[in-house]
Amino acid sequence: MRLIRAIYASTKMDALNKDDIENILLSSRKNNARAQITGVLCFSHNHFLQCLEGDRTFVNDLYNRIAGDKRHVNPFIIDYTEISERSFSSWAMGFVPDTEISRELILKYSPTGRFDPTEMSAASALGFLKALTKTIE
Ligand code: FAD
Repeated sequence: MRLIRAIYASTKMDALNKDDIENILLSSRKNNARAQITGVLCFSHNHFLQCLEGDRTFVNDLYNRIAGDKRHVNPFIIDYTEISERSFSSWAMGFVPDTEISRELILKYSPTGRFDPTEMSAASALGFLKALTKTIE
């Protein structure tokens, strides 16, 4: 068994609404707990940024399923690393909505001050997500 962290970003489909996000979180918490996958999902400025941690096979399977989900487009892998410990072990899937994400935090981790996770390094994306979870603990 190998412990893996995958971080990816994507863009929401135009028609996505609050109920869709609620459904995504319901599926995530149900499925991830079963597969011992932990992580965090944030949504801001039309972008998703998600970290998935867990067994390599389960994370790969889940990522492939998520990448084919029609509720978002352009999945873009930012980080895929073997890790020795989890960063989000208490979250089956923590969620951070737009309203909890400050401009200062975006500026701290982004080269442009704009929330476009595809411009973030792997370290910045992880640092950003860790900082975000502190706002919802
Ligand atoms: P169910 O939990 O049975 O589905 C519940 C309901 O969700 C369905 O009745 C339907 O209303 C809706 N739904 C499910 N799939 C779709 C779809 N493709 N298009 C439209 N509506 C749908 N899944 C996880 O398990 N873990 C995650 O961490 C995770 N993160 C995600 C992040 C993002 C940004 C997105 C877009 C999706 C994510 N998903 C995640 C959802 C994933 O893509 C699959 O939809 C889900 O895993 C299917 O689970 P299930 O078969 O148990 O469906």
